Amino acid sequence: MQKENKKIVIIGAGPCGLGAARRLQELGCDNFELYEKNGYVGGLAASFADTKGFTWDIGGHVLFSHYDYYDRLMQELIPPEGWVSHERESWIWMRDRFIPYPLQYNIGRLPQRDMLECLAGLMQCSGNASFDFDRSTFLDWIMHSFGDGLARHFMIPYNKKVWAYPPEMLDAHWIGERVAVPDIRRIMDNSIAGRDDCAWGPNNTFSFPLHGGTGAIWHALAARLPAEKLHTGVALHAWDSRKKVLFFENGDEQTYDFLISTMPVDQLLMADRAEPPGERPPFISSATNIIGVGLRGTPPEKLATKCWMYFPEEDNPFYRVTVFSNYSPNNVPGEGYWSLMGEVSESPLKPVDADKLLDEALQGFRNTGLIEDDDAIVTTWTHRAAVAYPTPFFGRDALLNRWLDHLKRLDVYSRGRFGAWKYEVANMDHAVMQGVEAVENILFGTPELTLQAPGLINSKRLR
Ligand SMILES: Cc1cc2nc3c(=O)[nH]c(=O)nc-3n(C[C@H](O)[C@H](O)[C@H](O)COP(=O)(O)OP(=O)(O)OC[C@H]3O[C@@H](n4cnc5c(N)ncnc54)[C@H](O)[C@@H]3O)c2cc1C
Repeated sequence: MQKENKKIVIIGAGPCGLGAARRLQELGCDNFELYEKNGYVGGLAASFADTKGFTWDIGGHVLFSHYDYYDRLMQELIPPEGWVSHERESWIWMRDRFIPYPLQYNIGRLPQRDMLECLAGLMQCSGNASFDFDRSTFLDWIMHSFGDGLARHFMIPYNKKVWAYPPEMLDAHWIGERVAVPDIRRIMDNSIAGRDDCAWGPNNTFSFPLHGGTGAIWHALAARLPAEKLHTGVALHAWDSRKKVLFFENGDEQTYDFLISTMPVDQLLMADRAEPPGERPPFISSATNIIGVGLRGTPPEKLATKCWMYFPEEDNPFYRVTVFSNYSPNNVPGEGYWSLMGEVSESPLKPVDADKLLDEALQGFRNTGLIEDDDAIVTTWTHRAAVAYPTPFFGRDALLNRWLDHLKRLDVYSRGRFGAWKYEVANMDHAVMQGVEAVENILFGTPELTLQAPGLINSKRLR
């Protein structure tokens, strides 16, 4: 069955690498091996249980899907009774109040002066006029689409916080469905009627594993693969693209005909002994620090149904906080406990002092009223993901296309969140499908739509 029985080696057992292995298995191809540097599977979508019985994700993961294949896979991996379903309630905390997300449709909740500035900016901005994506930065796009008021009050401070780089360093192409473009008429109607306009609306639900956090999905997938093909705790440290040999840190060597790599593409390129780039290709990324707080008691009424909240202001270090106990009752040790999980970005332009982070985060939780001084903290959990967000920096596509083409000529498919560095197609569903589509391209020559046509994929219904 396998194309002349070629050997395929996969690097990384995150969603992308596991998706590739799964597709090979499904197609009856048994000439493959999967190597993972961590002692566990799931990559950035893994989950961790702490000693106090709390479960944590690397930032609350929400299951999105643009693909029937992915939906079927999720149903197979976890039976219907193994999921909890939620309404997707997202909020913004600013000006000492919660405002439904997205802000642009709910500016009526802002103090009157801020609201009027946002409205004035919207009326002056070029809105729906055509926009030159090729020459523009994300900041240009924000000003073009939202105007000065919304830019100043939310879009610029929030995006600086989440990306850890100023929006003028980011490209505008990735935006697609990821940022809701305002409809001025709708905003005016909402503001005049004093109406909330929530993105989560009817039927806007998501599912979360009842047990084991998001990582349970990837454990279930790994468990279905032939055990002898999955090598955890084995890191690739060098390779020879001419001889097609891989060198692992434990001394193992492995030949391949095709390589599917999901490790960061810049690291992969630098590890090639035969044709290394002269200097490290200047891909830009940011790290994320997760701060989990487990508490005794029940969440306050204001947090009882909230999923996650965005934080554009400076009285706290996080860009987002998830009420993780709301995702599954099993994310906490039992009744009478609840948990919060904050995410703090980090980059060379936005350094984080690791020694102070936990205290600053706890103070941030208090400053924003998420926890009170007399709340009983049972546990804290921190995790740093050194590469967490593939920054869509200005000039990314030219750099990326050059190196992905170079690798493809060497029979190497660099795919996944950091393998292909495309934030717009870097969620779990996209990552799995990049792995699946890479395999199908190797075997059948079919196009890799997720990588090549992110806009098309993201225009499909979101589930
Ligand atoms: C804070 C945060 C929140 C997120 N929220 C969501 C969400 O709500 N919904 C959603 O769908 N997605 C979300 N994501 C994205 C999700 O985590 C990714 O889509 C997914 O993990 C990408 O899978 P991947 O396999 O491409 O990459 P990764 O998960 O990064 O996996 C790559 C794997 O390669 C391994 N590796 C690296 N180098 C080597 C080496 N030298 N040798 C061997 N192995 C190596 C790594 O250890 C890792 O396991 C979020 C991500 C972050 C950081």
